Amino acid sequence: MMELEPKKELNSIERGKLMSLYWTQRNEEVTACGHKWNKNGEPRNNCTDCWFAFFQTHGEFTQLAEKCFKEEGRAALVSFRGEKFVKQFLRFMRTLAVSLKGANE
Ligand SMILES: [Zn+2]
Repeated sequence: MMELEPKKELNSIERGKLMSLYWTQRNEEVTACGHKWNKNGEPRNNCTDCWFAFFQTHGEFTQLAEKCFKEEGRAALVSFRGEKFVKQFLRFMRTLAVSLKGANE
């Protein structure tokens, strides 16, 4: 049985919780909404949970998108990935920021 980490470690725990909440590889479906999804590609729908799982799964890609957004701006990211992607990406980043902020309190 796993011991609970000290409070200062909650960030990584929270990330892990989100990960298991939104994505189970075994079922190849997004836990939160039950949609089937090919994890190698972007979700074709506008389901926030599917996109959340996508960004969680492709962490390096998400970091790259974040870097592009911060350094080149929103318009640049839209031109690379499209409007739908950027909307979902920003929603994901906001959700992540809120959850991490909550974990620090
Ligand atoms: Zn979904």
